[in-house]
Amino acid sequence: MLRALNQGKDDKVLVSIRIRPTDSLMAWEMPPSQTKTIKLQHQHHKNSGTASPEFNFDEILTGSDNKPVYNAVARNHVCAAMDGYNSVVFAYGQTASGKTFTLSGDEDQPGIIPRAMKDVFAYIRRTPSREYLLRCSYLEIYNETIHDLLAPPSSSVSQPVQIQGSGANVWLAPLREEVVTSLKGVREVLERGWGNRRTATTDWNERSSRSHSVFRLVIESRERGEEPRESGRQTPGMRPPTPGGPRLQSIGGRSVQTSVLSLIDLAGSEKATSDKERTREGKYINTSLLTLGSVIGKLAENAMKNKTDHVPFRDSKLTRMLQPSLSGNARISVICTINPDINAIPESMSTLLFAQRIK
Ligand code: ADP
Ligand code: MG
Repeated sequence: MLRALNQGKDDKVLVSIRIRPTDSLMAWEMPPSQTKTIKLQHQHHKNSGTASPEFNFDEILTGSDNKPVYNAVARNHVCAAMDGYNSVVFAYGQTASGKTFTLSGDEDQPGIIPRAMKDVFAYIRRTPSREYLLRCSYLEIYNETIHDLLAPPSSSVSQPVQIQGSGANVWLAPLREEVVTSLKGVREVLERGWGNRRTATTDWNERSSRSHSVFRLVIESRERGEEPRESGRQTPGMRPPTPGGPRLQSIGGRSVQTSVLSLIDLAGSEKATSDKERTREGKYINTSLLTLGSVIGKLAENAMKNKTDHVPFRDSKLTRMLQPSLSGNARISVICTINPDINAIPESMSTLLFAQRIK
């Protein structure tokens, strides 16, 4: 049984489950709206006489409407990012469970990324006392190599992005950051990234399910009425703020608040299907998803028990790159997507166990 606690709003890590709708709901008994309780009626458990396992999460979401999903799992995180806190939203789940639908969505049902950007610009309009600078980057991690999706495909292949610095002071270079001033500008950047991702790919399906894609927005702001920025100021490739936001940095005596919002469509969590995969991409994906689970689990535990135990950020590119965005007062939301197909039960169980481990 899945039970929504609906009480993790102030926790460091918000963990939610989203079950994709299907016409053939054989394995799941859908909850009447409002109760947020779902029974997993797996044949195996029926026959074995053992009780269905029980899991508790912050939110359990069903249906095709992306708006309530955004409101429940991402809106607070976007607001926190505008207030100066680093925030990260992950979509985790097996291929075809709805990660991309949840994060990107489509024309009819815009996902978390377009809704977040809409909220970002609305927040700026509501806050005339401050001026903002928004820079976005879009990258992909495939086989533990980071590719800049905003660079022309040829250059990104010849020059993978490197993680520079160490600990909470890491940044990526070379990495393009595009200044955006409107939703239209963001849409163009996203479309260019998607285009580059496709061009660089021989087997699109395989690659898209085997790579993490990361959309990042660096938000800088300061009170209006101060001197304009010096035009020649160095903006190194994606240098995120140190943890413990909101971060106020003084540049030439002027106070600039910087935070990063990261929206991440993770690689498919399914087990590798062939030997070839198992020894190549499979290995990398499992390692990096496993590391992500350990890192988030440890962060949640440290926050809850007020401890400072070692967090294994360095064990994968994804977590190393995200260290500044996950540490300190950062807000984390993980939405675990589930394919309700009866054949997907073993993977669904493994997704639920991952979600439980990080809560
Ligand atoms: P993933 O990114 O996890 O591989 P997708 O987001 O591509 O999965 O989803 C697989 C298919 O299911 C897509 O055609 C998508 O539009 C559809 N889908 C996923 N989640 C939902 C949902 N909640 N409501 C309606 N359709 C969905
Ligand atoms: Mg996808």
